[in-house]
Amino acid sequence: MPQKIQRVKGVNDILPAEAKQWQALEAVVKKVMDRYAYGEIRPPLFEKTELFARGVGEDTDIVSKEMYTFSDMSKSSLTLRPELTAGVVRSYIQNNLQQISPVQKLWYEGPMFRQERPQKGRYRQFWQVGAEAIGSPNPEQDAEMIALFYAILEELGIAESVTLKINSVGDSESRAQYRSALQDFLRPHLSDLSETSQHRFETNPLRILDSKAPNDKALVQNAPKIRECLNATSAAHYEQVLEMLEAMDIPYVQDDLLVRGLDYYTHTIFEFTSDALGAQDAICGGGRYNDLVKELGGQDVPAIGWASGIERLLLVVDALKPLPAESDLDLFLIVLGDDLRTKAPQLLHEWRNAGLKCDTDSLRRSMKAQMREANRQKARFVAILGEEELAQGVVQLKNFETSEQQPVAFEAVVAAILDNN
Ligand code: AMP
Repeated sequence: MPQKIQRVKGVNDILPAEAKQWQALEAVVKKVMDRYAYGEIRPPLFEKTELFARGVGEDTDIVSKEMYTFSDMSKSSLTLRPELTAGVVRSYIQNNLQQISPVQKLWYEGPMFRQERPQKGRYRQFWQVGAEAIGSPNPEQDAEMIALFYAILEELGIAESVTLKINSVGDSESRAQYRSALQDFLRPHLSDLSETSQHRFETNPLRILDSKAPNDKALVQNAPKIRECLNATSAAHYEQVLEMLEAMDIPYVQDDLLVRGLDYYTHTIFEFTSDALGAQDAICGGGRYNDLVKELGGQDVPAIGWASGIERLLLVVDALKPLPAESDLDLFLIVLGDDLRTKAPQLLHEWRNAGLKCDTDSLRRSMKAQMREANRQKARFVAILGEEELAQGVVQLKNFETSEQQPVAFEAVVAAILDNN
């Protein structure tokens, strides 16, 4: 026998029962995005490698070790998107979206690809839903972005089990000032830092704040706080965001060590975590990225966004408040006898076109087996079609809930079932 082929490590098959939960979540996302007037964007799954190298940052974990990069026939280096902010910004610039409106509010959903070590909640192909608002520098846009994700959590019924952590990395002036304050603080302890952090001391010292190495973690507890280095403009921006969150009753905690792994952030950064998850507890991360559009060749346009892992959101939803599954089958048609093989598909075709959710047995099994299948699919009704019924133009319609059974003319079946809704 040929050997079975297994799926690639770290990727998932989403099977129909699970896909129903995905669809329910997606319906919530679409509804909320609509309320907040965000339009959907669907950029490609792969881009030129250069986009991520420049857009996400050469020194980030994503670019330095996690990307799926390959060459195509033209020998260009391409990469499966590890995240979508860079792709959305590339698309915004290339399609001149600023000409359509000075503020573009966009959302997306789709798979991302990173070669990370797989574990529960961390996959090599995972799905994100995300939003980007490109064009406004003002704190109300930051507050709306956060409120948008919070509204999704509320609709899903999991907002209370989630913590919003927020911080500001300020503008480039504030960051430069903080960078040297942090370096001054760390310099005497340089040899105690992990190898990665020693490397980052020069390239990106802020990232040392979220190092996982125990020594680094202990050391940075006493480091100067970035909030204390914000210049007046950056501090005012941040204060206003917090005020707006308070006005909207969105609880937050300020986290001085939050810096996030990507290079492009400025001003407000935030992360939502859930204690219903294990080690991989981040369900959403985002922030303002005022320099990225310019760095990718566009105009000097400020922006802010977030991305959330759908698998992780569903793990939280599943643990706390499973989404209502889609409705069960309306009708299962039980077919008894070979003379009915043409009539049965015709009836099903009509009923389905009329909007009923119907199924039947295509294996020509016994009455008992067909009844079992109807039960398995939790059909609300079964319609039994035998030779006698065919002669009279009826089916025996049985209501599974009440066990009532009566003959119903073919053309009256739809109404009989809809009347029962
Ligand atoms: P990031 O783009 O790294 O800021 O991640 C944003 C969100 O995507 C995280 O908060 C997670 O919910 C999710 N996420 C990131 N990486 C993975 C992964 N490897 N597997 C599953 N979800 C992920």
